[in-house]
Amino acid sequence: MNIESYIRTIPDFPQPGVTFRDFTPLLAHGPAFKALVDQLSARYAEKSIDVVVGIEARGFVLASALAYALGAGTVLIRKAGKLPHQTHAQEYELEYGSSVLEISCDALQAGQRVLVVDDVLATGGTVGAAIKLLQEHFSLALEELVFLIELDDLKGREKLSGLSVHSVFHY
Ligand code: IMP
Repeated sequence: MNIESYIRTIPDFPQPGVTFRDFTPLLAHGPAFKALVDQLSARYAEKSIDVVVGIEARGFVLASALAYALGAGTVLIRKAGKLPHQTHAQEYELEYGSSVLEISCDALQAGQRVLVVDDVLATGGTVGAAIKLLQEHFSLALEELVFLIELDDLKGREKLSGLSVHSVFHY
């Protein structure tokens, strides 16, 4: 099964000059999606993962499937204003302007073994904010940061020094 063949490249999206990696065809193809989740869950099968944290929105799809396969829980890190309970918030820089991620204050318990999942690692700003939320407010064992795709040229990995990073595909 060539999982990567279900990731397509869209030039000039969402704006001219940007090359967008689109994995929705992979999600739509049952055997490819299953092969991806099986591959990732095999990697963490012996790691006693308690919770898989997903980052809004495409990260949710991967995080929940992986959590189910591992028998772990899923926790959502969401864009500001979406979570109904008390939250911790973290602002981060975008190319133009800034954005805010939030997590429910009671989402995690001390000592839990956690994976953090997003679809793409680009500049690392998004996952960096997610990591700040987790490290500043919870006392966790952060096992690994997991991405379907890493855009190597953008050097996001350099912002994540000291953390274990696993990307399935590199572009
Ligand atoms: P970063 O904060 O620059 O690392 O960007 C990562 C975030 O932007 C992720 O949450 C992705 O969903 C999104 N993103 C960046 N580039 C792409 C892409 O080529 N395809 C899909 N999502 C992308």
